[in-house]
Amino acid sequence: MRPKLTFDDICDIFEIDAQMKYFYNLADTITRETKGNLVNVRAIVEFSNYCKRNCAYCGLNCHNTTLKRYRMQPEEIIDTALQAADAGYKTVVLQGGEDPEFTADLFAQIIKEIKSKRDIAITLSAGEMTEDEYRTIKKAGCDRYLLKHETTNFEIYSQLHPGYSISDRKECLHTLKRLGFETGGGFMIGLPGQTVETIAHDLEFIASVPCDMAGIGPFIPHPQTPLEKAAPGSTDKTRRAVAIARIMLPEINLPATTSLGVLDMEERNKVFYGGANVIMKKVTPPQYRKLYEIYPVKHGKIKTIAEERAEINRLLESIGKEYD
Ligand code: SF4
Repeated sequence: MRPKLTFDDICDIFEIDAQMKYFYNLADTITRETKGNLVNVRAIVEFSNYCKRNCAYCGLNCHNTTLKRYRMQPEEIIDTALQAADAGYKTVVLQGGEDPEFTADLFAQIIKEIKSKRDIAITLSAGEMTEDEYRTIKKAGCDRYLLKHETTNFEIYSQLHPGYSISDRKECLHTLKRLGFETGGGFMIGLPGQTVETIAHDLEFIASVPCDMAGIGPFIPHPQTPLEKAAPGSTDKTRRAVAIARIMLPEINLPATTSLGVLDMEERNKVFYGGANVIMKKVTPPQYRKLYEIYPVKHGKIKTIAEERAEINRLLESIGKEYD
């Protein structure tokens, strides 16, 4: 009989070390039952770094005037997605800032074009839209939508997103779910002012939607943001949160987030044995990659999409995982 975690149980998991082996094992057992030993590898195309929003933790925020902005052409986005499909990816994630040039109709055209040429699932991650706009995108064949809520705490959300509201964000997630998208939420660990209770509320929110996927990663400060001097989030707490999410929602898709790997690659690999079953890999053309930094990332040598995919496959094999 599996434990049903109460709010207090969730808080305890973050504070009591003695029971962590049990919870990681439980999360791993559930992952194997629902997902097998398989890790889904997903390609990300970062199509635009223009963003009208001002998130205090993000290097793409509209007040960062030091950043050179780019916007990929629709043909370039489509071509990159097709290259990803040809390299073996079964899902492409189109991710960008809230760029007013990318309307729902334009997304619909891009999605239809990719879908007409390859059998590949499409996730869009392009921020908050109206219900009609989400409906247009869904009708075009978009399978999934990723909209991390970042924190459900009213005060923290308001401080980090001046002029924006967590209730609008939550409403968008409920709308996406109602329209039939596989719905992705997610949040950061280590935001200034966050407590274990805050994290427990975030996990309960993910379960209440319920989200079909959730990106849970540590906060990493970016030098061109108001949070430049804040400490990064805890990788240990991140792993605990992923394990709890798996126990609460056995079927959910949980990535080993890129931000976790940026802080600690070993922790990133361990999370595949504590609930995670997805990994994301950038396929953004190399000339844009350094310009798309929500948080600072080290960029390796330029390789082809197929070479990078082969590298991920080898990494997963080396840690005993199968991949798709
Ligand atoms: S987190 Fe997203 S919405 Fe916020 S500034 Fe960055 S790209 Fe824009």
